[in-house]
Amino acid sequence: MSKIVEIVGAVGSGSSTARQQVEAAIERAKTTKDYNALLSLSENRALERADAIDKKIKRGEDAGQLAGVPFVVKDNFLAYGAPTTAASKMLQNFQAPLQATAVERLEDEGAICIGKANLDAFAHGGSTENSAFGPTKNAADTTKVAGGSSGGSAVAVALDIVPFALGTDTGGSIRQPASFNGVVGVKPTYGAVSRYGVVAMASSTDTIGCLTNTIEDAELVMDIISGRDINDMTTLPDFFTPVVAPKPAQKIGLIKESMGSATDPEVRARILEYAETLKAAGHIVEEVSMPILEHAVAMYYVIVPAEVSSNLARYDGVRYGHRATNAATLAELYGRTRDEGFVTENKRRIMIGSYVLSSGYFDAYYQQAQKARTLLIDAYTILFDSYDVLLTPVAPMPAFGIGEKAEDPVQMYLTDLMTVGPSLAGLPAMSIPAGHTDAGLPVGAQLVGPARSDAALLALAKTIGDK
Ligand code: GLN
Repeated sequence: MSKIVEIVGAVGSGSSTARQQVEAAIERAKTTKDYNALLSLSENRALERADAIDKKIKRGEDAGQLAGVPFVVKDNFLAYGAPTTAASKMLQNFQAPLQATAVERLEDEGAICIGKANLDAFAHGGSTENSAFGPTKNAADTTKVAGGSSGGSAVAVALDIVPFALGTDTGGSIRQPASFNGVVGVKPTYGAVSRYGVVAMASSTDTIGCLTNTIEDAELVMDIISGRDINDMTTLPDFFTPVVAPKPAQKIGLIKESMGSATDPEVRARILEYAETLKAAGHIVEEVSMPILEHAVAMYYVIVPAEVSSNLARYDGVRYGHRATNAATLAELYGRTRDEGFVTENKRRIMIGSYVLSSGYFDAYYQQAQKARTLLIDAYTILFDSYDVLLTPVAPMPAFGIGEKAEDPVQMYLTDLMTVGPSLAGLPAMSIPAGHTDAGLPVGAQLVGPARSDAALLALAKTIGDK
């Protein structure tokens, strides 16, 4: 298991070099190609940057907090050295004219982006099967899905290609693949990390976070990427400061509705064990009820497609990206470009989104969902009056088989039951490895806290451990 802190130590002390770290990561990426975790490698640029960092270190200059640490980003982050495809044919050859703020901040600290990770096209999905370039295989069992949509990022970390990866989480896309592959996944408070330079999915719930092998590494990455960015008006002033000593005797609410018969018995067992470990560490765990959580998937799959349909309107074949050839009229150009560039799930969401926003149905669906969302936010507020943290599984089941749910969108959407609530409410939520099933599939525990409690959540999880 590779850790950021160890690499930084080795490169800083001269026992290794940034070039060696990058070469080794690229080698690992090549030998694990069959997993389809990465869509591209930015080998030349990464090696050039590594050499520049090694020179700095040799000269005794400060090379940054992450000097020589290789990483990958989900391929919906704009980054130099490789195309930004969002795993779609629409952007297959798109070369980013700028880099995402989060990537820039990491590179300013000496980290080196070596490539782009696979995802469900435009981040629509929970298995990475919606990628236009083939699914990513689970790190623990290649017959299972990687989870998604940040499946490539999770598998790249789980396979130790790199010690950390960036992902996006709109309704669970960092947490669920982290859970399916046994790594740490952090979805921060809405607005904690700049989304500048990241392909938009649903603007009211999109967040940027990281996947790592350890909680300590996650703290380091979050500390660097979070904070105000003048290019993203939704960013909050920096509030992420790693907490050294977590608050003792925290009150933790285990949400009853996430532990019912719809949840796999082995998942329930791992979560109950995690709760016992929290108790053994001196915390109080009590069962709490949050009935409205059962409606969160319904709210999410009205609100998110509405925003998706709006955000994807820009892909018209005129300004950038794929363009259909030989269209006779402008309408045909738009229609064929979008038909060819989007995968089925993208189109489904555009259709649902356009429908719920249309004048006849806006009140009945979109506005109702927004009202329900307010009630969901209220329910969290009430629970956080009495509890410091809420605990649920990340997903109702461990990684499922490739192809098992691909033909049934509703079954796929229901796997998001526990992750969409914190997204709709803008709350920080983490996926922490909590053991395995008998078949060896990882299970993740989800910790959810009030807005801006990100660092406190990680500190709490750190006292329990991350494997
Ligand atoms: N699985 C969820 C969906 O399909 C989450 C996606 C995401 O967070 N990007 O919408």
